[in-house]
Amino acid sequence: PPIIEVRDLAKTYASGTVALTGVTLDIREGEILALLGPNGAGKTTFISILCGLVTPTGGHAAVGGHDIARDYRAARTLIGLVPQEIAVEPFETVMNTVRFSRGLHGRARDDAHLEQVLRSLTLWDKRDARLNELSGGMKRRVLIAKALSHGPRVLFLDEPTAGVDVTLRREMWAVVRDLRASGVTVILTTHYLEEAEEMADRIGIIDRGRLLLLEDKARLMHEF
Ligand code: ADP
Ligand code: ADP
Repeated sequence: PPIIEVRDLAKTYASGTVALTGVTLDIREGEILALLGPNGAGKTTFISILCGLVTPTGGHAAVGGHDIARDYRAARTLIGLVPQEIAVEPFETVMNTVRFSRGLHGRARDDAHLEQVLRSLTLWDKRDARLNELSGGMKRRVLIAKALSHGPRVLFLDEPTAGVDVTLRREMWAVVRDLRASGVTVILTTHYLEEAEEMADRIGIIDRGRLLLLEDKARLMHEF
């Protein structure tokens, strides 16, 4: 079965803005899906609904078979989120940062799991470094490590390369592709076709709240 099932999902904000309408899709376990669309298309709204941060005004979504409205807590344990804007404690160490994040999810301490996460992101050697001592690329890896600290099966990355330079952007592309080895399903948003092409197995195009197209990358690239 798909790890995520979305049926006719809709969100109209109290302001009257229709941010999403009639979005239906299945997300396969282990795939990397890029949601591509311009600013204001509804990408963040989509992610926020699946993470339980925004209540939809129509439709349904389930993660690992758990309906996010009826069974939010069970769904939430399966999800990791790297939001667009995140605050970190600059003087905290890498290890303490991910440990604290795991604790926030209500999970028992498990340094063996955290070691595995840090190693997968080549952060293990930096575990005792303070965040303000890290490069931009390493800092971004810590944000991903935080989101993986409780062992989710799905990772959401909202605009993972927003506001970074070309070198760091390429570094992040490689980091995301490498997440495949950890078996986690990845859903990311971007407004660059090139970026979706570099990272994703499938690309969904969102515009004005609608999912216009959802296609395997290879086929999409062949068509255009
Ligand atoms: P994207 O992530 O693709 O840039 P968003 O999901 O952030 O798109 O926004 C979709 C639309 O919903 C935009 O028109 C945006 O202005 C609007 N929107 C987003 N959040 C809110 C909110 N909290 N209240 C009202 N309108 C919002
Ligand atoms: P976490 O599991 O990450 O600790 P929380 O359970 O504290 O997260 O909730 C995170 C956000 O989701 C909060 O803004 C909260 O209001 C919202 N939330 C909590 N439960 C629900 C629910 N059943 N439906 C929708 N949103 C919820």
